[in-house]
Amino acid sequence: MIQTIFIDRDGTLLDEPITEIINSWDKFKIKNDIHCLAKLLSEYKFFIISNQEGINEGKLEQEFYDNTNKKLLSALGEHGIKIEQIYTCPHVMEENCDCRKPKTGLIEQATKDFQIDRQKSWIIGDRISDIKLAETVGMKSIFIQSELHKIGDNKPNFVAVNLCEAVEYITKNL
Ligand SMILES: [Mg+2]
Ligand SMILES: [Zn+2]
Repeated sequence: MIQTIFIDRDGTLLDEPITEIINSWDKFKIKNDIHCLAKLLSEYKFFIISNQEGINEGKLEQEFYDNTNKKLLSALGEHGIKIEQIYTCPHVMEENCDCRKPKTGLIEQATKDFQIDRQKSWIIGDRISDIKLAETVGMKSIFIQSELHKIGDNKPNFVAVNLCEAVEYITKNL
């Protein structure tokens, strides 16, 4: 069984543009604190879970999305950080799929692919959907604060101002 950290992509590893969809290189900006994840390398395996309805809306080219992921993975790799797998939901809400966060499909797939200890795993994200998902699948959660999305009366384990603070909290609560 492995301990894992499921990390949201847009707004957590990447800056989220006001338009919300990262569909051109001018909207692609890697957050400057991704290096902090390296502190958790010896204890956890990393995954990315991402809603990308832009793909099925026709606003985001699959190939462009794949290229942005390549760039992100290589930036993380420069800090020695390996992502085991990226799980993406391309569906729009109307398709009523079972993988669009806060639905559990992406995590269900990951637990089929890997032996994951849910109780010792975390979800880090900047939207309520990330926190609700963690609740449903029995994982701990950290909400990353931003101007764009508010946490309301949802209860993550911790609210962090950035990824480094999230990592700090996890190292203290291993
Ligand atoms: Mg996000
Ligand atoms: Zn989906």
